[in-house]
Amino acid sequence: MHRITVGDYTVEALTDGLCRIPIPFFPGLDPAEHPEVLDPDGTVHVPIGAFLVRGQGRTILVDTGFGPRETGFPHGVTPAAGDPTPPMGEGGDLLAALAKAGTAPEDVDTVFVTHLHSDHMGWLAPESTPAFARVGLEAVHTAGSIEAIHGEAVPLAPGVTARHAPGHTPGHYVLDVEADDERLILLGDVIHAPVQLRDDRIHFIADHDPTEAARTRRRWLDEAERTSAVIAPAHFPGLEFLRLGPGRTPVAVQGFTSQTR
Ligand SMILES: [Zn+2]
Repeated sequence: MHRITVGDYTVEALTDGLCRIPIPFFPGLDPAEHPEVLDPDGTVHVPIGAFLVRGQGRTILVDTGFGPRETGFPHGVTPAAGDPTPPMGEGGDLLAALAKAGTAPEDVDTVFVTHLHSDHMGWLAPESTPAFARVGLEAVHTAGSIEAIHGEAVPLAPGVTARHAPGHTPGHYVLDVEADDERLILLGDVIHAPVQLRDDRIHFIADHDPTEAARTRRRWLDEAERTSAVIAPAHFPGLEFLRLGPGRTPVAVQGFTSQTR
């Protein structure tokens, strides 16, 4: 998986599993116009991403995947290929990915959830037991270790700020990591697929308010392009760290701010 340094922070992409998204889940996406987005099974394959932010004595896990389970396709929606039909979403890899990154669940001091969708909160409390020492929802709430955030900008650590980015859900936040004149924006579900970089008419079915989601998408993509900030959405193929060139052309980040392995 990919890793990048931002000042004193190291940020690593982690994956919990895979979702096979049916085309109708992307209103406005014409597969004839964008055949490159399709897997041979006729769905759009997206990783279930999470990110680990370490530095300044802190270990922050951003999103917690789908959890150790799978979900089927909605009735009447199946991939064109696949025998037997694979699940639409399957998670379960996050703790192994975390271990590979050299981090145990008890090392995580803060779990930051960009929004409360099932592919971002799956490991908070699988089987109703919090997976991380200081976090989950009901189980975590009962344990007294959950904190809702409010406001436009909420500091989590030096240079690490949650910023309100509503639309996909009303309380959706992105995470801004800024240090030594470098900047990374973990975009969560502000954008779901690279094809949306080029085409503002493509939405995602789970966007709570599609108009606001589109406005938020433009706002953050414009800012990333204008400031040369590195971005990392939660579901882009390969979970690469990207900069946006002219026309929002995504360029994988290489060189001094980034190392991959
Ligand atoms: Zn998501």
